[in-house]
Amino acid sequence: MSAVQTLERNSELEAGILARAKAAGLEAIAEKVFAEERLSIEDGRALYATPHLHVLGELANWVREKHHGDRTYFNVNQHINYTNYCNKFCKFCSFDRLPGQEGGYQFSPEEAATKIREHLEDPVTEVHMVGGVWPKIPYQYYLDLLRAVKAAKPSIHIKAFTMVELDQIQKVAGKPMSEVLADLVEAGLGSCPGGGAEVFAARIHEEGYKLKINGDEWLDIARQVHNAGLRSNCTMLHGHVETVDEKLDHLNKLRLLQDETGGFQTYIPLSFHPENNEWGELSPGPTALDELREIAVARLMLDNIDHIKSYWILMELAIAQTSLSFGADDVDGTVVEERIYHDAGATTPQETARADTAPNFLSIGVLRVSELRGLRWVCTLRTLSRSFRTSRLSRGYPPRICRPSWPTSRPLRSAWARSCRARPWRWRTNS
Ligand code: SF4
Repeated sequence: MSAVQTLERNSELEAGILARAKAAGLEAIAEKVFAEERLSIEDGRALYATPHLHVLGELANWVREKHHGDRTYFNVNQHINYTNYCNKFCKFCSFDRLPGQEGGYQFSPEEAATKIREHLEDPVTEVHMVGGVWPKIPYQYYLDLLRAVKAAKPSIHIKAFTMVELDQIQKVAGKPMSEVLADLVEAGLGSCPGGGAEVFAARIHEEGYKLKINGDEWLDIARQVHNAGLRSNCTMLHGHVETVDEKLDHLNKLRLLQDETGGFQTYIPLSFHPENNEWGELSPGPTALDELREIAVARLMLDNIDHIKSYWILMELAIAQTSLSFGADDVDGTVVEERIYHDAGATTPQETARADTAPNFLSIGVLRVSELRGLRWVCTLRTLSRSFRTSRLSRGYPPRICRPSWPTSRPLRSAWARSCRARPWRWRTNS
């Protein structure tokens, strides 16, 4: 396609989206998106409130394709949750235990290294290592853990320790964070994950996780991590007791820190899971549509963070795949063993081997693996229609809020209509 044809196609596409945005009352936002202007908090409110999820998805997908074309990323990684001992008692958590409690554990550095060695045959390039916050773990343990993992596989990239864990590590180290980070990097730390932020709002911190660092402290540690030359991810736990304004404040704070440091690589909305924790009584967790909305709003609000990730282990593969048309460009990785969200009721497989991951995406017609670039697989987006058949979207939501092309065949449309009549649609705004 020539440059002129591409331009014509793009303006045609924008005109179509603009027309639909106008009908949905989102024209001013669409114009800002096309002009690459930063969206305001007020715009964010409109995005959370609109019932026109497909228009929101189209806008987010426009930005996603502008930045990443049809590329989607996942990596071949392995998770190690080195301990579940924790004294923070967060009300949404199903993972934490106290020593002596059934299911409590702490891996020795050697045990963690053994887990790496068990997968030496697999082309794992990254280990994601997080755990609970337990003050009796000495500083040396964290350094030994990193060194043991690195010794087991010298080529592996270690992404470890959330800002909450770093706060604890600094406390036991008894020295400035800059020196702690230098020690950890020397021992093998390559980057930091984005968990532990939950929602920055003081109200929710007080209500749900007041024993751990607050939002300002989380942001300050992230700043120090970035200033030390490390990159990190960032997250928001959604679908529990938060309001729309609290979510927008959270996103805005991440956006402002990113303006300052540029250190966030990926934003990941984390879906609250209600099983085996105190907050389970307050909320059943987000629906698939909530998850798609979080992805799309994040893509539009976080204009300075490159990657928006659908963490498939939380969302189910089919929804993660669907989210690739709502702004996400990354679906995490092969994982191998995940405990935190499975303790809270996640029903996704514990592991998706690399050999299975691509066929999993291929089998429902979403992605075509086109090439392998460096550490990450690069996939090409294809049609999404079949993914709806296997996702939570197909459990009673009307087609008007899904992609207009679904479902594709007459028998499926009839089945869809029957299911919609049987279970009337209700929209949850969390506000
Ligand atoms: S979320 Fe993390 S800090 Fe909070 S109780 Fe669970 S393991 Fe501990």
